Amino acid sequence: MKKNGDGSNTSEKNVKRPHFGIFSDVHSNLEALSVVLEHLEHQGVNSYLCCGDIVGYGPNPNECVEKVRSIKDCFVVMGNHDAASCGLKDTAWFNKYARATLHWTENVLKEENRDYLYRLPRMITGDNYTIVHGSPRDPLNEYLLEEKQFLENLGYFGTQVCFIGHSHIPFVVLSQSSKGGIEIKRLRENETIKLLPENRYIINVGSVGQPRDKDPRACCAVFNSEETEFNFFRLEYEINKTQEKMHEAKLLWKRYQT
Ligand code: ZN
Repeated sequence: MKKNGDGSNTSEKNVKRPHFGIFSDVHSNLEALSVVLEHLEHQGVNSYLCCGDIVGYGPNPNECVEKVRSIKDCFVVMGNHDAASCGLKDTAWFNKYARATLHWTENVLKEENRDYLYRLPRMITGDNYTIVHGSPRDPLNEYLLEEKQFLENLGYFGTQVCFIGHSHIPFVVLSQSSKGGIEIKRLRENETIKLLPENRYIINVGSVGQPRDKDPRACCAVFNSEETEFNFFRLEYEINKTQEKMHEAKLLWKRYQT
């Protein structure tokens, strides 16, 4: 970005900065993922960020990994379910419902998809963003939920904004250097947040396939890195179809929704 004499900004000609589609915690839910990707394409995004957990819980692990793999310019980090489904994390860490599905996932995953998950990085740092699954301090395991954790984690990434998933609850944490404190708020449907240069942010983009904020609709977001503007969306998808597939595969839906 170049500053003009009058103080306005001008992008360098022919350099189009990324307009990111962001999603997380797909959890093998193909119906939800398909709706999210279609919506993000309509938003005109030119790159994608995925904060992990492509698999786990749901009935279509191979299809979801293959769909994400097929996206051009998609940067993906590993989630705890991805790690467990390819043998990088002990399933004893999970509750019995998640554990049962992880064993099923491990069995049905094709070798090439397992290999893809195995090679995912824990953290990706771009021009002005970082992505991790759980937290910058402990990417695979930490659930970022409390003020103290947010303050501590600000020291573990160097960019203005860090996008996360893992808790499946969409929210934004705003750190204001001028005031020294932080503000935490839930993300609402169709909310637009303008990232101010004097602040730093941790944004949980919620879950595609298994939201846990009492709204079953899929979550996704768009980040315009040129304008430093973030937009959050909720989308309906064919939940019944996913439920039927889970029933057929003898996976547990009850726990899946909580
Ligand atoms: Zn998850």
